[in-house]
Formats: sequence, structure tokens, C-alpha cells
Amino acid sequence: MNRTQSVEAYREASQYIAGGVNSPVRALRSVGETPLFVRKAAGAMITDVDGNRFTDYCLSWGVFLLGHAHPEVLRAARKAVTAGTSYGIPSLPETQLAQLVHQFFPSMEKLRFVSSGTEAVMSAIRLARGFTQRNMIVKFDGCYHGHADHLLVSAGSGAASLCNASSAGVPDGFTAYTASVPFNDTTAVERLFAAHGNDIAAVIVEPVPANMGVVLPVDGYLQYLRKITQENQALLIFDEVITGFRVAPGGAQQLFGITPDLTTLGKIVGGGFPAAVFGGRADIMALLAPDGPVYQAGTLSGNPVAMAAGAATLRALTPKLYASLEEKNDIICSELSNVVAGKDIRLNHAGGMFTLFFTPSEVCSFEDARKSDLKRFAAFFRHMLAEGIYLPPSQFEACFLSSMHTTDMLHRFVWAVKKFLS
Ligand SMILES: *Cc1c(COP(=O)(O)O)cnc(C)c1O
Repeated sequence: MNRTQSVEAYREASQYIAGGVNSPVRALRSVGETPLFVRKAAGAMITDVDGNRFTDYCLSWGVFLLGHAHPEVLRAARKAVTAGTSYGIPSLPETQLAQLVHQFFPSMEKLRFVSSGTEAVMSAIRLARGFTQRNMIVKFDGCYHGHADHLLVSAGSGAASLCNASSAGVPDGFTAYTASVPFNDTTAVERLFAAHGNDIAAVIVEPVPANMGVVLPVDGYLQYLRKITQENQALLIFDEVITGFRVAPGGAQQLFGITPDLTTLGKIVGGGFPAAVFGGRADIMALLAPDGPVYQAGTLSGNPVAMAAGAATLRALTPKLYASLEEKNDIICSELSNVVAGKDIRLNHAGGMFTLFFTPSEVCSFEDARKSDLKRFAAFFRHMLAEGIYLPPSQFEACFLSSMHTTDMLHRFVWAVKKFLS
């Protein structure tokens, strides 16, 4: 496969852009590659600047449930652009998308749009602290909630203790109120609440974590988090930036029948434009400025083009689409499970996303995920790339499906995995 134009593009980009990329994992360093530069994308396919075509299982990190360049979404965006691209003054598309989001997520009684998932989570946490008048936030090892200072916390050990930042440039004090505990572990959460119950503002969780690769909550775990937060007057925040509209139309909260106090959404909701949203109980949202004392704002928040693209996307999310997605998920999972059985690989999947972990043991937590053979994953990534299949370039990410992935593409995916293993 000729990739000379991409190599040259990367060299040029690196002269001006830090690391040559605008988000670190795009550099493909952990898989021993250099980035593809994309020329265009449509449906399930991306074309790089050398003219190579790939079936895309990254989909802009789960954004394109309808595939790239969906005609209805493009039409809505084009129409919106002609009316001006930002006002900084309220406009009707904001209310239209808000209404749609509320229909999918009834727990979001009130909501507010922002421009990225990072902002949505950051704002939800400030609000949770303002509402409870408490400081501590509990998160889970391996869950990602954007790159706000106080959330960049890795848990050193599995012990439920206050943690240090996992990035340079974050003062210890900024993470002093963040605790990270192992996902699917009730004892660790129990201990934290026993020791700090009166100071915990919120528990934030990806209800089906996808940022350590896909990991499923064990039976009753999310119910347990709902119960212990309620008992301690702490808020439960579901970060559904990935799972929203994907694992079910109404996200993991619909799938598992749990009502969180606050929810964050991103990725799919902006239809491929920078938009995200946080929202939840009306009494909590009432604390937000201008009604209340918790400040939050954004120059491009509720951007009319993003709102129009988001609304067109949500309108295309029909029951038929979810049924077909489920069918595709079944194909890839049943056939893929057979192919990887006995090959020291674990397959985790949930509605339209899956991860192949290169480890023989079950993956229920970040600790389990980290047992994966990363060299073998890197070889797998490069093999799939050579077969014209673009995967998210890290063991700790999810592969995503869209309505544009055909049965043939999925069979080809399974075949390419089989080839790698033989
Ligand atoms: C992607 C992601 C974020 C951050 O969203 P950005 O738009 O990249 O800032 C937050 N939470 C989860 C669960 C995510 O997957």
C-alpha cells in the first residue's frame, strides 16, 4: 500500500502543528505507525490522500452512527450555513435539538449545549458541586471524561484513595478532590462513601465504559451506584458521550433502566460538528446562570450549524436503524467470537461497539484490560490497515459500527481477523 503522500503530509504538519496532530492518539505512535491523512469520507469508507480506501471502524471516535456524510445531515448543515454560521444570540435550531434530545433522554429535563464532551463533563461537575455544596468526585479507573485538569486522574493502585494527576501540568491540588476506583468493584465505592460520604458531590461513570476498550457493567453494578449515591445525597452522573444514542436510542440509562441525576452527551449528538450537551434534573439545572449561581458559558455553544446537523441525525435514528444495528452486532459478535475462541483474545461488545482484547482472561476492569498484549495489538492494527480496515489505533478503544456497514464489510472484517490469527 502506497502511503507516501500521507508521510509527506505528516512531515509538513509536524512543522507547524505540535506533534503533527490535533489530538494525540491520531499520531498512531502506540501502534508503531504514522498517521493517515484523510481526503474524504462517505458512508463506512474513508479515502486517504494517496487514494487508498479503508472501511472505517473508528468513525471519528463513534460520532457517525449513520456513517460519514449522511445525505440528510449534509442537507441540513448546508441549509443552516446559508443563514449564517454563528450568532451569539439565541436561535430556533437550539430549541429544536433540545426537544429531540429530551425525547430520547427524558431524564434530561433541562439541558444546555456546549462545544465538546470535555466541556459538558466539566460543566456537569461544577454544577454537581454547586448543587450539593460538596467537593469530592468519584470516577472509575480507565473511564475517560475529557481532559479537564481534575479528571485527568489515573488510579495508582486499585485501592480507593485520592489520586495524583496523570498528566504533567496539573497541580496536585487540582486533583485533591478526585478519587478513582476500579470499575465493577463495589467494595472500593463502599469504602469511599464510608470514609468521605458527606463530602462526595458526585459519582461520574461511563455506564458502559468504552475508553478502556468496551467493558460491561456486571449485573446490578449501575443499580448499586444509583442506590449508594441516593443514600448519601450525592449525584450520579452518566457520561454517555459515547453510549448515548448508541447502545440504545436512550443510551445506557434506557438499556439498564436507571435514571441518573445528570447526563452528558457528545459525539453523535452534533452530527459530526462540535457540539455536546449536559443536562438532567430540573432542580439541579436551575442552579445554572442566569437562573442560579453556577457559571457556565460558551461563544459557540448551540451553534446553529451543529444544531441542524444534530437534529437531522437524531431524526434519522429510527427503530429500524437500531434493529439493523443489532443484527450487525450479532453477526460480528457471533462470527468473531468463533474466530477468536482459543486464541488468547477476549471479545467485549455492546450495541454497535466492540473491542478485541489481546488477553486470555476476562476483561471487567481497567486492570484486566491492561493485561493485554499491546505489541500483539499493534501488529493486529497494522495487519488490518494493510487489509484496508481502519481501527481505532489503541487497545484501549472501541471499534464502532454504523448503519452504513454492510454484511459484506463485516464478513470481510471477520475474515481479516482470521487471516491475522492463522
Ligand atoms: C470523547 C469523550 C469525552 C470527551 O469529549 P471531547 O468532545 O473529546 O472533549 C468525554 N467522555 C467520554 C465518555 C468520551 O468518550
